[in-house]
Amino acid sequence: MKRALFQKLERQYPIIKRMSRYQEVFWINPKTGTKSKSFRPVSNEEIIDASNRLDRFAPCIEQLFPETQALKGIIESPLTDAPSVKKVMEDRIGFSIGKHLLIKLDSHLPVSGSVKARGGVYEVLKFAEDLAIKHSILKPDDNYLKLLEPRSKDLFSQYTIGVGSTGNLGLSIGIMGTALGFRVNVHMSRDAKTWKKELLRKKGAHVIEHSGDYLSAVKKGRQSAAARTHSYFIDDENSRDLFLGYSVAGMRLAEQLETAHIPVDEEHPLFVYLPCGVGGAPGGITYGIKQIFGDNAHCLFLEPAHTPCITLGMLTGMYNKISVTDIGLDGKTDADGLAVARPSAFVCEMMEPLLDGCFTVTDTDFYRYLTLLVDTEDLFLEPSACGGLAAFRHVLTDPYYLDHYDLRRKLPNSTHIMWATGGSMVPKTELMSYYELGKHNRDIW
Ligand SMILES: *Cc1c(COP(=O)(O)O)cnc(C)c1O
Repeated sequence: MKRALFQKLERQYPIIKRMSRYQEVFWINPKTGTKSKSFRPVSNEEIIDASNRLDRFAPCIEQLFPETQALKGIIESPLTDAPSVKKVMEDRIGFSIGKHLLIKLDSHLPVSGSVKARGGVYEVLKFAEDLAIKHSILKPDDNYLKLLEPRSKDLFSQYTIGVGSTGNLGLSIGIMGTALGFRVNVHMSRDAKTWKKELLRKKGAHVIEHSGDYLSAVKKGRQSAAARTHSYFIDDENSRDLFLGYSVAGMRLAEQLETAHIPVDEEHPLFVYLPCGVGGAPGGITYGIKQIFGDNAHCLFLEPAHTPCITLGMLTGMYNKISVTDIGLDGKTDADGLAVARPSAFVCEMMEPLLDGCFTVTDTDFYRYLTLLVDTEDLFLEPSACGGLAAFRHVLTDPYYLDHYDLRRKLPNSTHIMWATGGSMVPKTELMSYYELGKHNRDIW
């Protein structure tokens, strides 16, 4: 049965043949823009509401996490210029890509050191707020510092938050949840790193290890949460709140670009390269960015060649009805934050008229770019966060893509953002071993 499906898809979509051999691909979404103007399944008001909620909680965050003091409790990351790596990559492709290559340092987000500090933290806060209001501890215009008082902690300690994760979502929910007094159960997949489990245990979260992959960890977590009362499951595959938390990044990015006097319009296109696992984080961020910049922003996802789940789900239109194992892939990658075999159907649907395309990256390249970023920009990221540079091999040198959007003319005015999704919490010894792995291939194109 599976074999027959594979053969049929291969005939229908020749790109699948390359994918099934772990080769890199660049898939351009033919449906982009088809209904993007009228497509508003999440309204702008909802994103503004999410942003306002984060503002209300800022005093609590500032108190709980002193590293957020500089931004007064707002969890945001710098947007930094990366001229040295830009030059190296331009020398390789043989032309200039435009004014700026910027790196969005979600790797250095406070609280949990990855992009998950957006969505994960947001959903925990939303749950805490709902509970406190329901139990008459909090009114919407109260001072939210009330939520750090013993009365609130007593309430929160009666509840368990569950989550299934390859690691970083678990970290963000474990750290935020336990800080407010919740009990937290993190169901971890086999890919999860030991240091992440240890850190979570140190914070007081309960770590449950599963021998299967990310999806089976999510499934186990969902079942165990459904079986008990006073329990709330954060569902990485289907959560609207996670998505909203991520989408706030669009407004924040627009402010940063404005402060830096970097225009984005028809003649000054913006390109954003986002690492993708199940799809929630890059999907929410893309949604937020497209709300503001529309078609003047090109958003592209990158996935490991061993787990191109969104690429496969979107190109076949089968969404979560297809897994990368259905085309013979093993689903194993060192980019552990992206080790997901089946995409979120919710995100595929949201991305259908918005996402510009997807490209895949080999594990060798994740390490190669990791080492290059250390050597050129003195920036240590985790492997999952480094793949954006592969855009130079795909998007920026693809003749069809360049012509289709009239980019040869516009590239000199363009801005490119590599979204660096994680790394600052990775132990130094671990980072050094990644660095060594990429060293031999650093200068190969
Ligand atoms: C989770 C994660 C992503 C992707 O987010 P999804 O919501 O799974 O698509 C990218 N990079 C890192 C480092 C992550 O932890």
